Amino acid sequence: MANEPSSINPFETARRQVDIVAELLKMDEGARAVLKYPKRELTVNFPVRMDNGTYRVFTGYRVQYNMARGPCKGGIRYHPSVTLDEVRALAAWMTWKCAVVNIPYGGAKGGVICDPKHMSPGELERLTRRYASEISGIIGPEVDIPAPDVYTDSQTMAWIMDTYSMQKGYSVPGVVTGKPISLGGSEGRGEATGRGCAYVIREAAKDAGVRVKGGSVAIQGFGNAGSVAANLLYDEQGAKIVAVSDSKGGIYKADGFNPHAVEEHKKKTGSVVGFPGAKSISNEEVLETKADILVPAALENQITAKNADKIQAKLVAEAANGPTVPEADTILFQKKTTVLPDVLANAGGVTVSYFEWAQDIQGFFWPLSEVNTRLERVMVQSYADVHKAAQQYKVHNRTAAYVVAIQRVVDAIRIRGIYP
Ligand code: GLU
Repeated sequence: MANEPSSINPFETARRQVDIVAELLKMDEGARAVLKYPKRELTVNFPVRMDNGTYRVFTGYRVQYNMARGPCKGGIRYHPSVTLDEVRALAAWMTWKCAVVNIPYGGAKGGVICDPKHMSPGELERLTRRYASEISGIIGPEVDIPAPDVYTDSQTMAWIMDTYSMQKGYSVPGVVTGKPISLGGSEGRGEATGRGCAYVIREAAKDAGVRVKGGSVAIQGFGNAGSVAANLLYDEQGAKIVAVSDSKGGIYKADGFNPHAVEEHKKKTGSVVGFPGAKSISNEEVLETKADILVPAALENQITAKNADKIQAKLVAEAANGPTVPEADTILFQKKTTVLPDVLANAGGVTVSYFEWAQDIQGFFWPLSEVNTRLERVMVQSYADVHKAAQQYKVHNRTAAYVVAIQRVVDAIRIRGIYP
């Protein structure tokens, strides 16, 4: 991936962001310290039987950052570059994300160091079931509810739900979200991250004076979030998708692609690269494309001090978690680029996860139209809250989102009081 994602420690970034808000809110040292440490961390090393008959030991993590506002919530990622500090940062961001959209959760994240692209379905199932079993003591519908993240999906969640349920002796659909519909998943969860992102782009574009209809969009990362955002911006808001990329490279076409056709091409060939009629460009070039709107939908640390100046888009919507480092935020703010931070722009996923959990617990399921209407309401309100804080404190949207979120978390901590 572009721009050496491993060179910047994401947890350092997450903690610096807390400091910035703590200064702004004149927060005392005690509250600041609580926000800068994860509540609970679990590291597990476990063997998995590989297809060739050998065993390999894998390392996984589950970090529960803060549960002041409710059970912890957050995805599980499978990636070779997973580190404990990355999982800590992602767990902190989940805490702020759930608070920004005002759903009754704390934040958590999990990760397993592995290369799922080079593992068979059987190996992935055994890895998932064993990891689920190793962390089963600290997850559950009232404690911590995992979900999909980078390179995990509804099948992964089905295996976790089954493993956890087997251990309990009865079915527990509410232990994970992002499940297949047949197992208690929610209508609309699959496309919720991209859909939520498209809603906040629509809202922010009005304030930023950016046109979506007929405007151009560049998307880095064409996985679940990026491809759905592309399709919805194209289908529902009339945008032109001029550049997209995945881990193998990028493609560009000045008069725009039909993103559905690009999706088909990726399904067939494994990549967007080589799409007929498109010019090949690098991942870095996708970020720097001349476009009205940029959607980073891949991994963290993509927009840095090195390339922030070259970003041409007027509106940046972070469908990925942590794509922009703090130095780059400052540069973009000075350039008057509107950034919709990850904790807002990709919060549609966890919002519909919340709907899924609520439906599982009630055993009463909603139609797609109800899910999408409620999602739209949450995203519109959350954008308005963030925009208002940005104006009130004269800060960029990321700091504004943290102000909204951290105030809600600190309120919960204060009202609950410190035990004992
Ligand atoms: N992994 C997604 C995120 O980062 C979804 C988490 C969830 O649904 O719990 O927001």
